[in-house]
Amino acid sequence: MGNLESIWQEAAEHLESSLPDAKKQWIRRISYSGDRDGTLVLSLSSPFYRSTTEKNCRIDIENMVSEIAGHDIPVEFIVDPSRKAPRTERKAERKAEQSEPVSRNTTLNRQYSFDNFIAGDNSSFAFNACKVIAQNPGTSFNPCLIYGGVGLGKTHLLESIGNYIDEHNPKMKIIYVTAESFTNEFIDSLMSKEKISAFKSKYRNVDVLLIDDIHFLQKKDSTQEELFHTFNELYDSHKQIVLTCDRPITELTDITDRLKTRFRKGLNVDLQPPAYETRMAIALQKCREKGYQIDQKVLDYICQSINTNVRDLEGALTTLSSFATLVGKPVTLEIAKEQLKNFIVSPAIRNNDITIDMIIQKTAAYFNVKDYDIRGKSRNKNITLARHISIYLASILTSYSLSEIGKFMNGKDHTTIMYSVEKIKSILDTDESVRQAVGTIKNDLLNG
Ligand code: ADP
Ligand code: MG
Repeated sequence: MGNLESIWQEAAEHLESSLPDAKKQWIRRISYSGDRDGTLVLSLSSPFYRSTTEKNCRIDIENMVSEIAGHDIPVEFIVDPSRKAPRTERKAERKAEQSEPVSRNTTLNRQYSFDNFIAGDNSSFAFNACKVIAQNPGTSFNPCLIYGGVGLGKTHLLESIGNYIDEHNPKMKIIYVTAESFTNEFIDSLMSKEKISAFKSKYRNVDVLLIDDIHFLQKKDSTQEELFHTFNELYDSHKQIVLTCDRPITELTDITDRLKTRFRKGLNVDLQPPAYETRMAIALQKCREKGYQIDQKVLDYICQSINTNVRDLEGALTTLSSFATLVGKPVTLEIAKEQLKNFIVSPAIRNNDITIDMIIQKTAAYFNVKDYDIRGKSRNKNITLARHISIYLASILTSYSLSEIGKFMNGKDHTTIMYSVEKIKSILDTDESVRQAVGTIKNDLLNG
């Protein structure tokens, strides 16, 4: 068994980078307290923190530590008032973060700006509309909805609006929040009257409210109700609201009509996949930004092959650049093709009829395990690897979101699914047997 302290450190890192904000705050308060006969003992500084953390995060923590350890690890939470300070590394990290110039509105991610967004044929209308909104918040195009497929720059534009306003109107209160965090925060607030009123006042007293990925609100009736009132209050007082969604509002299901009507007011703009020239301009700009040296022929190959998702385009550039650094020589076209073999799946393929069931069946057959084992909780090494690979393949071959994939896997949560995807990505280049398994199963699926 690995050392429980290091397993906890790794789990905490993953949880902090993947859980919604409302949960992250609890993870940060946890200290490692010890290993009691294989039980991971975690401490919180007060009974309140212990019960809240347990209620909100126990399942996430148990899943993550067991996933990392490769077998079930029982977790116990205790109260230890002397352990006020969370892990020392985390403190140092936070100090480092504090010494960097931070945005006044800390919910914003400063890496996104209008300056580093390439407006092409597909996005210039949305880009210009967002700029106008940022220059005159609350006056024109209110509300505004940006919609389009995965990885096309919705979050980038939304955050750019926030950053621009933050820079030019420092007194304005801006909140950027994903619909998922909004939902979790709302649920958390239901614990007490004070929290509910704090939640309401937080969201109803902003000048600019930016909500990302509102498709997440489907079927979340009470959150929709709360957002409806927030929306009306902000709208009536001419505060700016900008939303993003992965599809046009008319295609949303399980969202009340009155909320849909609100979303459709104002301006709705779409982002389309970029044409080749725009993809090349984006690739060149990402290389400049990150200092990647990639041969023009290779860039051309990437931009030809990845044609509907800018995030994947970026991912390919990062993969090749890391490879070049590792082997200490430039990437040739042949190497690029080989390296990106498992990466470049023409998004057209995502529209194919590959289902998660098919992926699980093929993977189970390859590893000689049962379908239900892949969906289940067994920590057997072989089964765990098969499970990680099925999840990874579902993420690249189907258009399901991580949460949706989780539902197919007997209700695993988004964090566990993300862990599996990251795990396979991180070993794909170095582990020949994994690469071979992924390649074989994928080819099998693609060739019917
Ligand atoms: P979405 O929210 O639509 O899924 P993101 O905004 O997260 O997509 O974009 C994915 C990645 O692609 C981000 O790193 C973003 O900076 C980059 N990106 C997308 N479109 C552009 C663009 N037109 N110019 C520069 N970068 C872009
Ligand atoms: Mg996004």
